[in-house]
Amino acid sequence: MTESFRAILVSRDAEKKQTVETVSLTEADLMEGDVTVKVEATTVNYKDGLAITGKSPVVRHWPMVPGIDLAGTVVKSQSPQFREGDQVLLNGYGVGETHWGAYAGLARLKAEWLIPLPKGLTAKQAMGVGTAGYTAMLSVMALERHGMKPQHGPAVVTGANGGVGTVAISLLSQLGWHVIASTGRTSESDFLKSLGASEIIDRAELSQPGKPLARERWAAGIDSVGSHTLANLLAQTQYNGAIAACGLAQGFDLPATVMPFILRGVALLGVDSVMAAREGRIEAWDRIAAQLDMKKLDALTTTIGFDGIIAAANEIVAGKIRGRVIVDMKD
Ligand code: NDP
Repeated sequence: MTESFRAILVSRDAEKKQTVETVSLTEADLMEGDVTVKVEATTVNYKDGLAITGKSPVVRHWPMVPGIDLAGTVVKSQSPQFREGDQVLLNGYGVGETHWGAYAGLARLKAEWLIPLPKGLTAKQAMGVGTAGYTAMLSVMALERHGMKPQHGPAVVTGANGGVGTVAISLLSQLGWHVIASTGRTSESDFLKSLGASEIIDRAELSQPGKPLARERWAAGIDSVGSHTLANLLAQTQYNGAIAACGLAQGFDLPATVMPFILRGVALLGVDSVMAAREGRIEAWDRIAAQLDMKKLDALTTTIGFDGIIAAANEIVAGKIRGRVIVDMKD
């Protein structure tokens, strides 16, 4: 295939100054891999925002085609696992960080990074969920593995208007949890309630240094914010409760004490989506296809075209995106 296709390329000069541009590539330019995929849909995650703006050192191979999530159709395969015409999904594995990723017409990838597109989801719906939503499901699964159930008490979700947050609220409420949503955008309360939040709190309540232990407010939580917010979440978790930590939108520090752990038996559960085992990925995606209310997914997604990716990347880093962004590569 010698046809050219559009791609976003981030580069660095000798002074480590980063630039981003739209370029034309051919299949011969792509990195090594055994499966070539026509990218039909992708998305803009917080990490993609960091890669494009250069705000944090996400990119570790230069130049880079960013984009950590994609859904599309196999056009060539040297792997017995996939055949031409198969619909596939990719999340993470360092794609868009160390291996050229989703913001291109074609992507050449390793078969072991791909999973079949889950039955019941279109490529665009899968990207509406994306790494953020799949991480929300991994967080729900981590809480469940710890034995947490809706009857134990409320679940708090931080970064409520973000990608992880909106999907976490939708999933937890669908599963019967009483959800407390923490947000800096309380003007979006009606939207968060439409996704299933029962209570809205201002994130300012949680973002400042707090006490080692405070009034018990929730049994469980999904935190995409880190820093003082996570420390306060732990300090306000009830006896034998658990918090799943997956993000750092406020900061990567954790200025906490051991008091919630040793006096209340609280558990802090780490969640990583990038290198998560294939079995867990497939389980998470099957559960998303079966349990996420597609009307709520529609309500929390905005669709843009390829030309809107760079602007959306800047907006997500500025905390201005509500919910999830789907990139339809046909547009
Ligand atoms: P988004 O930008 O969509 O959402 C983050 C949300 O956090 C914002 O919408 C905002 O919600 C809140 N927020 C932003 N800045 C601050 C701040 N300074 N203090 C407190 N809250 C803040 O990002 P995603 O949902 O895509 O990702 C969220 C986090 O999770 C990121 O750190 C990301 O890197 C991480 N992540 C980790 C994964 C893993 O594998 N562990 C996978 C996916 C994401 P509001 O306006 O409602 O307050």
